[in-house]
Amino acid sequence: MRRVLFVLAAGVVTLAIAWFLAGLPGHITARFGAITVDMAASVAALGLLLAFIVLYALFRGIGVLLRLPYVAARWDAARDRRRGDLAVTRALLALAAGDKADARREASRARQWLGDTPQTLLLAAEAGRLASRDDEAEAAFRRLTERPDAAFLGYRGLLRQALNRQDWSEAAVLARQAEAAHPGAEWLRHQRAHLALRSGNWSEALDLAETDAARAALAAAAANAEQDPARATKLARQAWKADASLAPAALAYATRLRAEGREPRAQAVIRHTWSLAPHPDLADFALAPVTDPLARAQAAQLLAEANPEHAESRLLLARTALAAGLTGEARHQATLARESGLNQRRLWLLLAEVEEAEHGGTEASRAALRRAINADHDPEWRCTECHAVALAWAAACPSCGAAGGLRWGPARSGFYQVPAVVS
Ligand SMILES: [Zn+2]
Repeated sequence: MRRVLFVLAAGVVTLAIAWFLAGLPGHITARFGAITVDMAASVAALGLLLAFIVLYALFRGIGVLLRLPYVAARWDAARDRRRGDLAVTRALLALAAGDKADARREASRARQWLGDTPQTLLLAAEAGRLASRDDEAEAAFRRLTERPDAAFLGYRGLLRQALNRQDWSEAAVLARQAEAAHPGAEWLRHQRAHLALRSGNWSEALDLAETDAARAALAAAAANAEQDPARATKLARQAWKADASLAPAALAYATRLRAEGREPRAQAVIRHTWSLAPHPDLADFALAPVTDPLARAQAAQLLAEANPEHAESRLLLARTALAAGLTGEARHQATLARESGLNQRRLWLLLAEVEEAEHGGTEASRAALRRAINADHDPEWRCTECHAVALAWAAACPSCGAAGGLRWGPARSGFYQVPAVVS
């Protein structure tokens, strides 16, 4: 509609100009040497108009000719762009469909038409990975690392390759480079923490820890591995402050304090942790300087006072009393533990020992041993994340790698698988 109106308007203007020119009065005479030209003014005006139009068309034509190479280049670029975009789309589809050959071919075409852009390099790398062509993928990822705007993508890809190869040292280097290229990425933080745990770099893992449980466990492990005594003490104290109920943290701190000659403070640390969560290793540490059995029984009483009703305190008093020959006290404490609901294997074994010490190999001691077979499991280190049992404490779960995941507590199942029946 607009086009029709434009044509009508142009026609009206042309007619108006023609009518105006035809109506011009008078003549124009021009003389060129011996030639004299005489024409009507309307004809002369029309000639001038035509001359203007011809000159205008001529200059436009020259302009088009001069810009022809540039225009042709733009046409070529636009064509390459269309082809490249099509190849990118096809490569993405092939990657999504898991079509290795198509993905590599289309990624190669995309690079051919669009050049080495972050998108085409990433496509080429992913296509290489899909086809298990690690060399191709690595080359593309390395090209990406050379681009400031996409270096993180390159380091991320190389890091994943290093993790797949289980090349932890190379992975740690790449993780640091990726962090420098794009600080604060959440994924990278998890990877760095994972690598630090894998390589036993407790200090770095501690810097990346997100919970008090993880911080306590990692600081304790870092303290145990630290060569510098002052820094070891600082780390151990940090561990105990983060979680005073974690026995390994208390032991790490108390060990450092004892090494510094601060025995009363070391004992206070152990007693405080015993009041929160008793563990046999705490008692072993507290009683270690005492060798006389009676003195050990007295030292055990001092520790047990921090948590007198706990079954662990009862068992400690029973064991130390038995070692000191105080079988009556040992039986009394073991009975109290049993009456509090404890039905663990170690309790029945202890009762059997008490019976043995008092009366020799009697039916009562054999009955206690039989009870031990079907008793509850003794407490154990178990992961709060994957519930796997660990034979010994570690800063990270040996099964799932969760930092600070291991906690000391009652076993889950109630029966031991004992191959022989004691009679
Ligand atoms: Zn676990």
